[in-house]
Amino acid sequence: MKTIGLLGGMSWESTVGYYRAINEGVKKSLGGLHSAKIVLHSVDFEPIEELQHKGDWEGTAKILSEAALSVQAAGADFLLICTNTMHKVAPDIEKAIRIPILHIADATGEVLVNKGIKTVGLLGTAFTMEQDFYKGLLIQKYDLEVLIPDESDRKIIHDVIYKELCLGITTERSKKAYLRIIESLASQGAEAVILGCTEIGLLVKQNDTDVELYDTTAIHAAKAVEYAI
Ligand code: GLU
Repeated sequence: MKTIGLLGGMSWESTVGYYRAINEGVKKSLGGLHSAKIVLHSVDFEPIEELQHKGDWEGTAKILSEAALSVQAAGADFLLICTNTMHKVAPDIEKAIRIPILHIADATGEVLVNKGIKTVGLLGTAFTMEQDFYKGLLIQKYDLEVLIPDESDRKIIHDVIYKELCLGITTERSKKAYLRIIESLASQGAEAVILGCTEIGLLVKQNDTDVELYDTTAIHAAKAVEYAI
């Protein structure tokens, strides 16, 4: 079994989910007392969030590259960046280390293509929904049509992530808003919706809606288990 490297803490609320899902996946595959071999570097999210919102991506890349080097030095065979948004600097991190990165959008794109989905809705931070580093990969490499919410709904999704979900707060009000936005993407033609932020699964579950949901935390964790074993 390979050793899984995790770059976590963005936010720690979702890193907990990775740790649990990866261990449950290994237990399911290997049985008995088997558990995952994991090296976790969990960062302090506040300075990273400040740099993101200032547009200083180079600053975030520097912090995350150093963290990734420490994960590599501790013996990880490959790396997961446990956030969709910070894949914006995945190419910089990749240059700093020798071990491979399992990209969250690749893992998600592969699952969607295998399911025969062609048009998909995407929820995530404004960075993930609006910029090209994530959506572009789904469109160009996996030939998917990607629908995102309108500007005011994107603001709702973004604000709930940073002001509630990353702080461990889930409210009925935000859940209703998310479900409304998911339904609206489905009515515009989305066959499924990507929960493209690792905390959204804490708020919205598959049981809450008939629209098919693809939770990137679960998908990324499952990919790591598959690769490790
Ligand atoms: N965990 C989130 C994501 O998957 C947002 C936090 C961040 O900005 O990294 O995008």
